[in-house]
Amino acid sequence: MLDFLHADLEKRKTLGLTRQRRLLDSPQAEHITANGQRFLSFCSNDYLGLANDPALVAALQQAAAEAGVGSGASNLITGHHRYHDQLEHALAALVRQPAALLFSTGYMANIGVISALMGRDDAVFSDKLNHACLNDGAFLSRASHHRFPHNDVAALEKLLQASTARHKLVTADAVFSMDGDIAPLAAYLELCERYDAYLYVDDAHGFGVLGPQGRGTLQHLGLKSPRLIMMGTLGKAAGVAGAFVAGEQVVIDYLIQHANSYIYTTPAPPPLSAALLASVHEIEHGDARRQQLFAMIDLLKSELSLTRWHLLPSETAIQPLIVGDNFEALELSQNLQASGILVPAIRPPTVPVNTSRLRISLSATHREQDVRALIAAIQAAEREIPARKQA
Ligand code: PMP
Repeated sequence: MLDFLHADLEKRKTLGLTRQRRLLDSPQAEHITANGQRFLSFCSNDYLGLANDPALVAALQQAAAEAGVGSGASNLITGHHRYHDQLEHALAALVRQPAALLFSTGYMANIGVISALMGRDDAVFSDKLNHACLNDGAFLSRASHHRFPHNDVAALEKLLQASTARHKLVTADAVFSMDGDIAPLAAYLELCERYDAYLYVDDAHGFGVLGPQGRGTLQHLGLKSPRLIMMGTLGKAAGVAGAFVAGEQVVIDYLIQHANSYIYTTPAPPPLSAALLASVHEIEHGDARRQQLFAMIDLLKSELSLTRWHLLPSETAIQPLIVGDNFEALELSQNLQASGILVPAIRPPTVPVNTSRLRISLSATHREQDVRALIAAIQAAEREIPARKQA
């Protein structure tokens, strides 16, 4: 087997697909130290700048002094702490859903929920660009899995119409993690009502950012229905770590009994929930942060003028710059790094072949001069880097 592993890694290298970790040696912020070098960063999902917020840090420290740092046991033994419980109630209230359940990560939430709700006689319908953990959830559930082209409502309708499954679950990223666009969730919900299906919305990138007071994409679109189940992550705009699922009380009660990634694991430490309670407060009262974020989004979109590369149409904090070729995307990322700016190159299999890109993510902590520096550096790089022919 080791020969196989070596060969795989070599092949990745020759295709320009090797992924590298960086050693971060500073708080997550708009300026970071990575691999010993200072960078202006457009890499993080800390869209509101809460990962390094003093109110959250103080809440965590205080709770650690009071409650300790370990959860000690799984949720159904003695691990479900008062801080976890308070956070579940605060999150449900924030997103205007009847009930919520905490998971340790968004990945665990997606695999846990889909595999608990769906079984052999059921069917899951997924957008082709859905996050990998939604697909993994469908796979684990053993339900039949149907993938439809990105945002294609008509294709989804055909699949739902043809399905004879016992239960049907449509899954989609609310805001696509590598494209930044918003799924046509109102149309999906209508289809779910027509074809007796349920809609599971992964709001990893909308929660905290979109909707009044950051209540998320469902509130942004004005959607409410017992057929909706949402997942929000807590390591992105909320600035900490973890995830929650929100929906009807009966769904949450069922998940507590059946979601393996909830039951058979130790919950995140209680102080993280205390920090997240402070984060919920900051999100709810975070209009100034959101205004700054959206000002930065507008600035980038209106001022970045390019001839060869282009931004995908996106109204969110995720602004993908499409380059196409793997090596060219990598070269652009490296060119920016040389000018002290960090933006990751995203390549297949994370994104489709020939759509390698720079995933620019903006945060409320960016200032106008930061975004202007990024724009100037990308425009200079476009002049310097020769175009490569795509494979
Ligand atoms: N869903 C989407 C759309 C995501 O982008 C991510 C994180 N990249 C996740 C789920 C997983 O969330 P977490 O990082 O909390 O595991």
